[in-house]
Amino acid sequence: MRTAISCLLLAALLNISLPCAASSPNVVVIFCDDLGYGDLACFGHPTIATPNLDRMASEGQRWTEFYVAACVCTPSRAALQTGRYPIRSGMCSNNRRVLFPDSTGGLPASEITIGQMLKAQGYSTHAIGKWHLGHLPQYLPTSHGYDSYFGIPYSNDMDAVSDSPKGKARFWNPEIEYWNVPLMRGEQIVERPADQHTITRRYTEEAVKLIRENRQHPFFIYLAHNLPHVPLFASKEFTGTSRRGLYGDVIEEIDWSVGQILETLRAEGLDGNTMVVFTSDNGPWLTFDAHGGSAGLLRDGKGSTWEGGMREPTIFWWPGRITPSVVREMGSTLDLLPTIAAITGASAPSDRLLDGYDLAPTLFHNLPSPRESMFYYHGQEVFAVRHGMFKAHFKTKTSYSGQRDAEVHDPPLLFHLGHDPSEKYDIAQEHSHAIDTIHQLKVEHESTIEQVENQLDKR
Ligand code: MG
Repeated sequence: MRTAISCLLLAALLNISLPCAASSPNVVVIFCDDLGYGDLACFGHPTIATPNLDRMASEGQRWTEFYVAACVCTPSRAALQTGRYPIRSGMCSNNRRVLFPDSTGGLPASEITIGQMLKAQGYSTHAIGKWHLGHLPQYLPTSHGYDSYFGIPYSNDMDAVSDSPKGKARFWNPEIEYWNVPLMRGEQIVERPADQHTITRRYTEEAVKLIRENRQHPFFIYLAHNLPHVPLFASKEFTGTSRRGLYGDVIEEIDWSVGQILETLRAEGLDGNTMVVFTSDNGPWLTFDAHGGSAGLLRDGKGSTWEGGMREPTIFWWPGRITPSVVREMGSTLDLLPTIAAITGASAPSDRLLDGYDLAPTLFHNLPSPRESMFYYHGQEVFAVRHGMFKAHFKTKTSYSGQRDAEVHDPPLLFHLGHDPSEKYDIAQEHSHAIDTIHQLKVEHESTIEQVENQLDKR
């Protein structure tokens, strides 16, 4: 397997000991929903206070160029779990972009998740929060390698009841009853509608409990918050406390949650043997006014292949192992599966094409990231490609603006993300060689895509 080999090869070449397979380190992945690149204090937000995430970043690595593999929820989550672009698992579509409560599809049984990979390695594996890879029993976390599941299985704005206010009006003063979303434990619904005011707190309590219960046994916890996806809910301790209003209340409660988890790891003496990753599934939902987040200086947001839709505020933490720094290298949620395989000694799937790289050399030794390119999918199409500092857009579509058809660019738009992270100045005319290189990469990548059954349009 390429990633494990690269890890060992590097270790041999540099005569250093990489923690490729330390003593079964624990792994916690914290995944937010629709959190923007600019929504944390340590990523530049002026009025949202995130002291716990700021501390996590100063003790670990803050990655400024970390990407998800899709600009909406379901395909982004499929990519994280499998280390593969979602088109390989049938988890993206040009019609329905995510799964809905009436969907009958989900992540195919043939796919191997991080949970499944680590369970085979003897780990205790737990999923908490938003799954959104299928809510029918055969698609839930408990059918995909997780020992337990506690959460809302899809987006918190689904199952809207017909007598609630229409359109955005139902979001401005949200009542729990407007959305009849289920809260599940295992494969059973335990509460409906889920009390979303307490959902972040309860997910946190579940994570803390699992850490304590498993302190003498290697564990993997995938904690996928339902927030800050609209409708926004905060517990009464946080409501009305942030200078950023309700959206800030929600982020500051998530920050509290991160603090609880890291403090529990410290208290249990597990901080030296646990890697924690914090990131988000896609950019901010900009059409929801102040209820949506901010992509900072990045262009556009959720639903688009501009940087604001797919670049996420990301932090890696493992005291004593990860070298504290700001990392301006490329990484992706696609890389989590190979990286986790390398640090735990688990076997990443070798019978299929993976799109991820082992980031261990960057995490542990500040070496360059093995990732040099990123393909920006919109549904089943590659709309843009980044290679090095250059990004070419073959098509663009503004997120949730009502723009019906994508705009085709021939020649593609070209931006230098180092000089112009906001993608303002097209430099295609001066750098046709970069477009030629990127076009060739796109052709090569697309030649590896096989047609598989589409899971999102199934009803
Ligand atoms: Mg999302």
